[in-house]
Amino acid sequence: MKKFTLIGAGLVGSLLSIYLSRRGHKVTMYERRPDLRTNRISAGRSINLALSDRGWRGLEKVGVDKDIRKVALPMKGRIMHGLDSSLSHQPYGKEGQAIYSVSRGGLNCVLMDLAEKEGVEIHYNERCTQVDMKKSAAHFENFTTGKMIEVTSDHIISTDGAFSAGRLQMQLNTDRFNYSQTYLEHGYKELTIPPNANGDFAMDPDALHIWPRGTFMLIALPNMDKSFTCTLFFPFEGEYSFNSLDTEEKMLAFFNRMFPDAVALMPTLKEDYFANPASSLAIVRCFPWSFEDKLLLIGDAAHAIVPFYGQGMNCGFEDCVVFDQLMEEHGDDWSKIFRHFERLRKPDGDAIADLALANFIEMRDKVGHPEFLLQKKIEARFSEKYPERWIPLYTMVTFSPDIRYSEALKRRTTTGKNHGGSDEYSRH
Ligand SMILES: Cc1cc2nc3c(=O)[nH]c(=O)nc-3n(C[C@H](O)[C@H](O)[C@H](O)COP(=O)(O)OP(=O)(O)OC[C@H]3O[C@@H](n4cnc5c(N)ncnc54)[C@H](O)[C@@H]3O)c2cc1C
Repeated sequence: MKKFTLIGAGLVGSLLSIYLSRRGHKVTMYERRPDLRTNRISAGRSINLALSDRGWRGLEKVGVDKDIRKVALPMKGRIMHGLDSSLSHQPYGKEGQAIYSVSRGGLNCVLMDLAEKEGVEIHYNERCTQVDMKKSAAHFENFTTGKMIEVTSDHIISTDGAFSAGRLQMQLNTDRFNYSQTYLEHGYKELTIPPNANGDFAMDPDALHIWPRGTFMLIALPNMDKSFTCTLFFPFEGEYSFNSLDTEEKMLAFFNRMFPDAVALMPTLKEDYFANPASSLAIVRCFPWSFEDKLLLIGDAAHAIVPFYGQGMNCGFEDCVVFDQLMEEHGDDWSKIFRHFERLRKPDGDAIADLALANFIEMRDKVGHPEFLLQKKIEARFSEKYPERWIPLYTMVTFSPDIRYSEALKRRTTTGKNHGGSDEYSRH
C-alpha cells in the first residue's frame, strides 16, 4: 500500500482517487475550492459537459456509470439553427449512439461521494502553493485559516487542471521541460434558456443545438431541470466581439440579428450577458509529465485542450483507465508506471488537441452548409455498408474507445489532411 497525495479534486482527480483506492492505496486529495456538496458554488468552467464513450468506459470500470446515466441526457445529433431560424439535423452516429449532457457539478459530487466511500480523504480550501519533488512533499495554504502545511507521501499526482501548480513546479525546477500555452482569440460566455411557460424544454432536448455563424457560434446543451445552458464562443477583440458589444443596445441588436430564435427563448439574456464572465480558452502542451516516481501530471494538468470535440474530460477519464492498466502491468514499479503512462498518452493528448481545434471550424462554420450535411450523409451510408473499410472521424473519436485518439488522427491524415504523430513519445 502506497501513500498518494492528489492535488485537485476535480473530475479527473476524483475518478483517479477511486481507481487508486480500489488497488489498496491510501489516497488524500487537497482541493482549493470549498466542498461543492455543501456550498452553493460553481464547479468551475462550463456548467454542463458532453460525456461520450471514452468517459463512460472510465466510469463503468469503477461502477459509477449507472448513477450517472440517471442524470445524463442523450443528445443523438446536432440541430443547426439558421439565420432565418430554419432548422437542420445531423445525427452524431448510428441508431442508438448518442453523446450525453451531464452537469459538471453533479458529476463531480457523485465521484467525490464514491471516493469517500472508498476511503479517500478530501481536504477543502487547500491550495497547493509548491511541490518539493525530490522530497515528494506538497505545500498547501488553507483559504479560511491561512495555515500552511507540508504533506509528504510516496507519490504526488497533479490533477489540478489547466493551470496546474504541480506542472508549474516541473517547469521551474526541472531541466528541459517542454511547455507551451496557446490562447485562442475566442473566449466563451454562458447564457441560459429556461424551461418554457409549461415547465418543459423550450427546444428539442435530444440534441446539441448549434447556431453556426462562420467566425463564431452559439451552442446549447440540455439540463435535467429542462433548461439549456448556452455557450457563446466569440472573439475577444474586433468589430463583433466581447469588447465591442459593450452596451445593451449593441448586444441586443447583434443577438436579434444573429440568433433571433434563441433570443426569443432567453428572458434573462441582458442580465446573463453582462453578469457572466467572458472566459478564455487555452491549449496546454508539455512533456515530460512525470518526475521520477514522485510527481505525475494527469488530465488537463498534462493536456488542456479546447472544448470543440467535447473530449477534455473524456480524455482525462481515459487517462485513469490507462493508468489503471499500467498499475496492473507493472505492479509496484512506479517509475515504470509513470514513464510508460506519459509515453503512451502524450501522442493521444496531442492528437485530441489538434482534432479539437480543427473541430471548431467544423462547428462554427461547416455544419451550416447543405454540402457538409450531404457529405456527412454519404459518409454515414458508406461506413454503414463497409464498416471494416472506413469509419467517420467523429465516430472514431467519440464512439470508438478502442481506437486511440492518435490512431484516429492518423487515419484521418491518410485521407488527405496533414498531421503527424508517433505512437510512443520518448524523453529528450
Ligand atoms: C467551456 C468548456 C466546455 C467543455 N466541455 C467539455 C465537454 O463537453 N466534454 C468534455 O469531455 N470536456 C469538456 N471540457 C473540458 C473539461 O472541462 C476538462 O477537460 C476537465 O474538466 C478536466 O478535468 P481535470 O480534473 O483534469 O481538471 P479540472 O476539472 O479543471 O479540475 C481541477 C481541480 O483542481 C483544483 N485546483 C486547481 N488548482 C489547484 C491548486 N493549486 N491546489 C488545489 N486544487 C487546485 C480545481 O479547483 C479543480 O477542482 C470543457 C471545457 C470548457 C472550458
